[in-house]
Amino acid sequence: VEKAREQVANLIGAEPNEIIFTSGATESVNTVLKGIYKAYKTKGNHIITVSTEHKAVLDTCKYLEEEDAEITYLNVDKEGLIDLDELKAAIKPTTILISVMAANNETGVIQPLEEISAIAKEHKILFFSDATQFIGKTQLDVNDLGIDCLSLSAHKFYGPKGIGALYLRRKDPRVNIVSLLHGGAQENSHRAGTLNVPLIVGLGKACEIAKAEMWDNNTEVSKLRAYFEHQILDIEGLRINGSTKNRLYNTSNITFPRSFDIKVLLQEFAFSSGSACSSGTAEPSHVLKSMGLHNDEIRNSYRFSFGKFNTLDEVKRLTNHLLSAF
Ligand code: PLP
Repeated sequence: VEKAREQVANLIGAEPNEIIFTSGATESVNTVLKGIYKAYKTKGNHIITVSTEHKAVLDTCKYLEEEDAEITYLNVDKEGLIDLDELKAAIKPTTILISVMAANNETGVIQPLEEISAIAKEHKILFFSDATQFIGKTQLDVNDLGIDCLSLSAHKFYGPKGIGALYLRRKDPRVNIVSLLHGGAQENSHRAGTLNVPLIVGLGKACEIAKAEMWDNNTEVSKLRAYFEHQILDIEGLRINGSTKNRLYNTSNITFPRSFDIKVLLQEFAFSSGSACSSGTAEPSHVLKSMGLHNDEIRNSYRFSFGKFNTLDEVKRLTNHLLSAF
C-alpha cells in the first residue's frame, strides 16, 4: 500500500502523505466537495464550478445547494473553454472553492489550469481539479500548476475499476476536509475503512506504467486520432467538437451532418453518444448543450476514444465504415 501511495504521488508530483485511496473518482469528488464545504463553512458557502463538469461534480453540487451552498456554474464558449474574466467576476468574499475539471470526458477539452490556479491563489481560494480524464495520459505536476486537490481513477489509464485517489495538499495551504466516512483512522482519518489492498496495488502499478509510457502512448494514440479525423473530415458538414488546440490526444467528439444507422458499426466498435457514464440516460449531453449545440446536432454526435491497444487497421476499418455511410 505504501509503495502504491508513492507511485501515485510520483505520477502527479505530490508527497505520499497527500494521497488518500478511494473507490474511484466519484468518491474522491464527493469527499472533496462535501468535505471542504463542511470544513470551511465559517469562511463561506460559495463554490464556483463549470456547467460542463462530470455528473460526479454537478450532482454533488446540486446536493450541496440543498444544504445551503451557493454554487456558480460558469459557462463555456463553443470550444468548451471557460472565460477567465467570468471566473474572476464570479469570485465573492464567501467563495471557498473553485472546482474545474482538467479535461472533459466527452470532448477531451483541457481547461487553462495554470491561469485558473493563479486566480485562485490571488484570492486565497482553494482550487480542486477533477483530473480523472487527464491523469495517466498527460504529464501533470500539482505543484507546478498550483492545484490544491485533485481526483483520479485507475480505470482511465488501464488500471482496475473501483479504485481511485484524492490528492489533498498538506502545506501552503493545508487543505482541511470533514470526512465522508467515519469509523476508523485509516488514510489519515480522512477515509475510514479497511483498505482494498489488491486494487490499491493495481492503481500504483498503473501509475508507474503510465509515467513510463506516457510519451510513447501520446505519440502513438495521437497518430490514430489524427488519421481518424483527417479521413472523416471528407464528410461534408461534419464537425469536430471542442477546442482542437486544447484537447486530450485520445478523444474525438464528432457531430455528423445527419443521423445514420450505427447498428452495424456497433457490432465491431464501441463508441458512445455523450459520455459512457450518462449514455444510459435519455437526456441530451449537457456538455454539448453548454457548448451551444442544438438538440438535433447533439443527437448526431458521438464520442470516439482511442487507446494504446488500438491499431491503425482498426481505425481504418472504422473510418471506411463511416465514409461509406455518407
Ligand atoms: N470524473 C470524470 C471527468 C470522469 O470521466 C469520470 C468517469 O467515469 C468520473 C469522474 C467518475 O469516475 P469513477 O468511475 O472512477 O467513479
